[in-house]
Formats: sequence, C-alpha cells, structure tokens
Amino acid sequence: MTSRRMLVTGGAGFIGSHVVEAALEAGWEVAALDDLSSGQRENLPEGVHLFEVDVRDVPAVEAAFQDFRPSVVSHQAAQASVSVSVREPVFDAEVNVIGGLNVLLAARAQGVERVVFASTGGAIYGEVPSGAASEETPPRPYSPYATSKLSFEHYLETFRQQYGLEFVILRYGNVYGPRQNPHGEAGVVAIFADRMLAGQPVQINAMREPGDGGCVRDYVYVSDVARANLAAARGETPRLLNIGTGVGTSTRELAEQLAAALNVQADLRPAPPRPGDLERSVLDPSRFQEVLGEPLGLEEGLRRTALWAREHR
Ligand code: NAD
Repeated sequence: MTSRRMLVTGGAGFIGSHVVEAALEAGWEVAALDDLSSGQRENLPEGVHLFEVDVRDVPAVEAAFQDFRPSVVSHQAAQASVSVSVREPVFDAEVNVIGGLNVLLAARAQGVERVVFASTGGAIYGEVPSGAASEETPPRPYSPYATSKLSFEHYLETFRQQYGLEFVILRYGNVYGPRQNPHGEAGVVAIFADRMLAGQPVQINAMREPGDGGCVRDYVYVSDVARANLAAARGETPRLLNIGTGVGTSTRELAEQLAAALNVQADLRPAPPRPGDLERSVLDPSRFQEVLGEPLGLEEGLRRTALWAREHR
C-alpha cells in the first residue's frame, strides 16, 4: 500500500483547516505548513504538526518536506485577497508564484506524487455576464491575484511535462463556512455574520448604481471544497475542476438569507460600486457533480455557518 501522507500548505487557514480535518477523517497522515499570517494555530485539530514556515523561505520549505515526506501536497497557502493584489502585485506574485514554485521544487525533490492546487474560479474567468463558466471557458484574469493563480496553473503543467509531477487544479467559487476570518478584506459571509451578530449595519456595494442588489457570486460551502481536495488527492478527479454550485446569488440576497439563518433583523445599507469588483461570476458545476455529486445548497450551508458563528462569536 502506498503511504498516504498529506502536507497542507495554508493548513491553519480557513479552507486549509477543513482539508486537514477531512484528510484525517479519511485516514491520512497530515501535517500543515503555514506562516500564520492570516491562519491560526487553533484552527488545526490537536496533534497535527504545524511547520510554521513562509513559502518564500526556501531552506525552511525544503526542511519541512524532508522532515514530513508527504506523498501529496494540498497547496492552499496564498496571498488570497484580490484588493491586496491590486495594491501590491509584487508581494502577491512573491507569495503566489515564487512561493508556489518553492513548494513545487521541494515536492519534486521529495518524490511527491501529486499536488492539488487551490485556484480561483471566482476571479480567473473574469466577467461571466450570463450562464456559468465551464472549465473550457477561456480565462480572462483582471486582477494580479487572478493572473498569479493562472501563472501557477501553467507552472503545474510545465512541472508535469518536465518532471512528471502530477497535479489537480481546483478552481473555487466564493467559499464560505465555519472558521472563515471575518477580519480580512474577503469573505463576505464571515464579515456580514460578524457585523449582523454585533447589531451593526452591512454595506451592499452596488453592481452598477446604489440600491441594486450588488455583485452576483457562486457561493460554495467549505466542506464541498474539502471533499474535492480529498478526491483530487486520491487521483479521482480530472486535472481541472470548478468547485461551485452553478447558482448565482446577489450580495443583497445573500445578506437577507444570512440574516434569516442567524435570526436577526439586518440593517442593509446601499453603497457605491467597488472599483475592480467583477459584476457576475458563476461556475458550471457539471464536472464537480459527476465526481462528487450535488454540492450543498446555500440555505443549508448558511444554516450551518450561522450555527457556528453564533457559538463562536
Ligand atoms: P486563508 O487566508 O484563511 O488561508 C490562507 C492560508 O495561507 C493562511 O492560513 C495563511 O496564514 C497562509 N499563508 C499566507 N501566506 C503564506 C506564506 N507566505 N507562507 C505560508 N503560509 C501562508 O484563506 P482561504 O480562504 O482559506 O484560502 C485558501 C486558498 O484558497 C488560497 O489559496 C486562496 O487563494 C484560495 N481561494 C479561496 C477562495 C475563497 O472564497 N475563500 C476562493 C478561491 C480561491
């Protein structure tokens, strides 16, 4: 039997910690590599070793790989904010491209079988004015973040051709669920839940003009993302997979559904559009459904998230 040892970069973060949990439940040996820049040690289940390492630190990355000897890497660590990438594109590329390459080189040196990569369906396809973006839709990255994620996707293919390192790219929609950080610049569900529970108003940034429902996004529950990572790690998925639901929800609809799940009266304030935000992004979930069945619907996902948010505030 081949050894099943998974190193989850970004494992102390929101999505990474769910991947860690799912892998442990499935019987993998798991370790996390994270610099704790936005992640937290408390997100990790007890007993999971954390290499407190920045992916830009080559000797430290190499040492972690030599120490743990993973068979699979789930690469979640990233500069994950679109707006930070717009302000600091070099920093974004240093973490998402150079840091990612450090991970790939260490993986290659240790004979890792497969790298699963957290890419972005929400940003990589650009505007999706109608319908849903399938994996065949040509990428149109508008932000440095989307460009760095797409560049890394290309590096994965290059490493497969040059060195035989297998990979799976998972292009996530807007992921939400327990443990999402409400203090960052992304993660609208966590930010809104935090504010609603504190009795504070939430801003609905308009899509075109104040008072409209705001951007339309494909919200996907974090357990579906973790499931997809596990299936990818086992080699059960195609090399490229959207992780979404095919359902578009406006910011206003999201806020109303979340308020209902939290059982609070929400104070929704119209706000101007945010420059740089895509108006609409929805992902075709057909491939996801073929491999993993139905993704969780928004109502049930928000119900679970609301329960968690109430308990952990
Ligand atoms: P997150 O910020 O909770 O997780 C990212 C983790 O990476 C954090 O724990 C952070 O400490 C760690 N990290 C950041 N820079 C690092 C560095 N230089 N070295 C080592 N660790 C570092 O965010 P998340 O939402 O859990 O995102 C996980 C992955 O999923 C990211 O790659 C992100 O781009 C991708 N993604 C997220 C979404 C979403 O909706 N949340 C959508 C598409 C893609």
